Parts: sequence; structure tokens; C-alpha cells
Amino acid sequence: MRKVRAEEVEAHFWAKVDVRGEDDCWEWQAGKNQRGYGFIRRNIYGTSAAHRFALASHQGIEPPPTDVFALHSCDNPGCVNPSHLRWGSNQDNCKDRSERNPGYSKWVEDEDAIHLVRRCLAGESAYAVGKATGISRTAICNWLKGKSRPEILARARELAGQEPQTEQLSLF
Ligand SMILES: [Zn+2]
Repeated sequence: MRKVRAEEVEAHFWAKVDVRGEDDCWEWQAGKNQRGYGFIRRNIYGTSAAHRFALASHQGIEPPPTDVFALHSCDNPGCVNPSHLRWGSNQDNCKDRSERNPGYSKWVEDEDAIHLVRRCLAGESAYAVGKATGISRTAICNWLKGKSRPEILARARELAGQEPQTEQLSLF
């Protein structure tokens, strides 16, 4: 019973993907959120993120808890090619990114840095946040890991616990 439903959901899902060669990006053709990630209706897998669904479906598992991210190796949020995706933490994401993109440093005021870290804690990648704001990803990652200016991470966590995460920040 359960199996049939799963297959149906998967068939619907993959019908909305522009499947290309194994190494190409497979672009999600249906709805995307403002950050460019594909989304789907919540389903038996309990996820609404297309790339999470893609990876789980490919592996024949249920998606792990939401603090485990489906990370893109291709920097394309709309891509659902399972071979461009792997499970990891936001900190893992950081490690990759900062190695590939050293970025530049620039002083960022505490309040701004706290906002950036909160965006990451809410699920945005440091890569995306860095790209959107022009702040060095290395710096964002170091705050996110508490490696530099640890009070930023502490304050961001405190705030995240207090309010639902809905605000949109435009910094520059
Ligand atoms: Zn891709």
C-alpha cells in the first residue's frame, strides 16, 4: 500500500524534472522559492524541498531531519540531479565553499553579522548569503561555526529561539 503511493509520488516528481546527462544540472521545472530552490507539496516523505526529495528518492530512503541539508556540489539551487547532491550539515557546506571561494574580508557590524548568521541557521547556505550580500563566505562560515566573534553565533541562536524566522533582510 505504502509502496504504491511512494511510486506515484516519485513518478509525479520526476516528470517535473528536466533530466539531462549524468553530469549536467537537472533543473526543477515547477515551483521555486525566492532563493531558487524547487519546492513540492508536502508528501509522504514529509519534505517540501525538491532537492531533498530528489536525493532521498534516489537513495530509496526517507529524508533525514532538517538539520541535515541536501548540499549542492554545483551551486545551482534549482538542480535536483542526485549526483550533484549529498547529505551534510550547513557547516560541511561552509567547508567546501570557503575552500573553493576564499572571498575577501571586510568588517561587518555585529547587527548585520547576526542577521547573516540567522539566515544560515534558518537553512540558507553561506554561499547564497555571501553572494546576495557581498560578504565573504569565509567570514560568514567562521561566524556560523563560532570560530570568529563567537558572540555573533550566540546572539543569532538566541534570537532564532525567540521569533519565527520570516523576515527578509536587504543589507546593501
Ligand atoms: Zn547541478
